[in-house]
Amino acid sequence: MDEQIGILLELRHVDDRLQALATRLDMRASDLQRRQLETSAVREVLERERERLARAEHRRREGDREVESCQAAKTRFEIQLQGVKTNVEYQVFLREIATMQQKAREWEETILEAMEAEEATQKTIARVAAELKTKEAVEAEEQRRRDEERQEIQKEQEQLSRQHAALVERLAPQAKSKYQRLTRSKGTAIVPVVQGSCGGCHYNLPPQTVNEVRRNQRLILCEGCGRILVWTDS
Ligand SMILES: [Zn+2]
Repeated sequence: MDEQIGILLELRHVDDRLQALATRLDMRASDLQRRQLETSAVREVLERERERLARAEHRRREGDREVESCQAAKTRFEIQLQGVKTNVEYQVFLREIATMQQKAREWEETILEAMEAEEATQKTIARVAAELKTKEAVEAEEQRRRDEERQEIQKEQEQLSRQHAALVERLAPQAKSKYQRLTRSKGTAIVPVVQGSCGGCHYNLPPQTVNEVRRNQRLILCEGCGRILVWTDS
């Protein structure tokens, strides 16, 4: 095998590995992001339920105050009732007393509803809070694992980048500039022949080109995309 072709084969191997590592980093990052979104959705639900609870508590306290003031008014009317002189006045105070009683009953109804809402919301809050706790624990664990994995990947990336640079330096000037230009324009410079076609653009290669690539004797470029073709057994 030509030495330059050997270097290109090694380069392809190193570049593929670098590409795979970058993809894995991206995937892990989006996994984590998805999990964070799930957790924050649960956090928002919890926040809303707490607001609902606060509103119910507020309504209940308002009801308590209103019942108290209705009762105080009723008592005042009852006292005044004892001092009335005319039947008309008497009727007026009776009506006021009845109105206050009715209002107090309505507010008591409101208090009851608020208390039921509080009870139901507290149950929901307990359930959602437990769910959030679980999700946060899973997220923290994932974050920890991901940090570890990222450190390993970065270590390997640094090592591979050094190998990559050393291999590129060993390329002859023409092959080197071709390789660098292709990497810049297409991302992948070296591609294998896959079932008689270019592994980069799927151009159907003439059998003669395939045979030449298989011999690994000189630099062969794809007629379709211009990438450097190499032969791999896999
Ligand atoms: Zn091609």
